[in-house]
Amino acid sequence: MKRTSRDIRTANRYEVLRQIIAESPTSRQELAAATGLSLATVATLVGELLDLRMITEVGFEDSAGGRPRGLVAVNASGGALIGVDIAETYVHVELFDLALNVLARADEDMRPGESRPEQVVGHVAAAVGSVVAQAGVEAARVLGVGVSVPGQVDRDTGIAEYAPNWDWHDVPLLDLLAEHIAYPLHLDNPLRACAVAELWFGAARGRGDAVVVNLGTGVGAGLALGGGLHRGVSNSAGEWGHTTLVLDGRLCHCGNHGCVETYVGAPGIMQNLRELSPRSVLLHPEDQTATIDALAAAVAESDPVALKVVRDTARYLGAGIADLVNLLNPEVVVLSSWVAARLGEPLLEEVRQAVARHALRRPLAATEIVLSPIPTDPVSLGAATFALEGALQSVGQRAVKRTHARSRTAPPS
Ligand SMILES: [Zn+2]
Repeated sequence: MKRTSRDIRTANRYEVLRQIIAESPTSRQELAAATGLSLATVATLVGELLDLRMITEVGFEDSAGGRPRGLVAVNASGGALIGVDIAETYVHVELFDLALNVLARADEDMRPGESRPEQVVGHVAAAVGSVVAQAGVEAARVLGVGVSVPGQVDRDTGIAEYAPNWDWHDVPLLDLLAEHIAYPLHLDNPLRACAVAELWFGAARGRGDAVVVNLGTGVGAGLALGGGLHRGVSNSAGEWGHTTLVLDGRLCHCGNHGCVETYVGAPGIMQNLRELSPRSVLLHPEDQTATIDALAAAVAESDPVALKVVRDTARYLGAGIADLVNLLNPEVVVLSSWVAARLGEPLLEEVRQAVARHALRRPLAATEIVLSPIPTDPVSLGAATFALEGALQSVGQRAVKRTHARSRTAPPS
């Protein structure tokens, strides 16, 4: 697919705002140096962002002799963004200001079996209503809502095409949500949400090629290649969780056997524990979160069973990550999402050793493996970033009929 001049302009706009959010206040000259764009291009893009009230002028920089340089900074109160993280076991929603500070949070638990689209939509609508009320922002200031849902999604039509853990097929999720939520909506999945969060705010910022390994109930790899999100031709790149790790191995929801996910996703880790110690007190049948929490606590106490489970899981994970390292030669591999956050350093250490046993020397030497440095939920941050990107994309094409985002005028119910 050919990149149009509008695509390039949009990418440049992202780059300039990303830099301003990271380094406020800053000058046009510093922005040009940091982004590699010409001063004239930066000046135009800064002008657009000022018109949108996403940034503001904040005085002048002291300069030795020469003309004083005008400084700009992100206008935190210039708008609000909402990120929705729909997972298999919970809905987590955060409302951010434009500097991407969290102003409000809401959580809804999803009980096992509670996976019908209308149930999920009900939880999302309740949580979105809650964060807007908590933060006390005017509806008009909400620039958009990014929604991350597991599985394959068509972001142009807003359809959740396939969610293996719920057996969803072609669910018109954005249309269902638009019946309850009045803001522009943007749909994508957690792989890309985590990748875009790392790209804008985390370990992939300023890196050319990064792989964001998402370890939750489901597993996948968000790919940031050449400094931008890699989606593939039909928005499904990164389904590494469903690549084969063990021939004729464990049965996966997707119908295949031996997928990476069946060994290193939360249910896979539970199975690793069950095979090692079927009656372990760490095992909370039917409760992934409780089991992973119990494992993390037991590892901290040097419990031998828990240590062995983390090591076994890291062996599988390391072999799979070594494939990614050999295939993509990334600068950084980021371990992200809730399972990685909870198992933390002990898992990271074991994974580094396991990757070193499997990967080729040259790509391995160039790759750093780290935990996500994002202190909050990376999926809702990434989802909110999609809403921010959507708002930036619509600059200069306001009159053009929107195809990527739905917007309704009715107030939220
Ligand atoms: Zn699979």
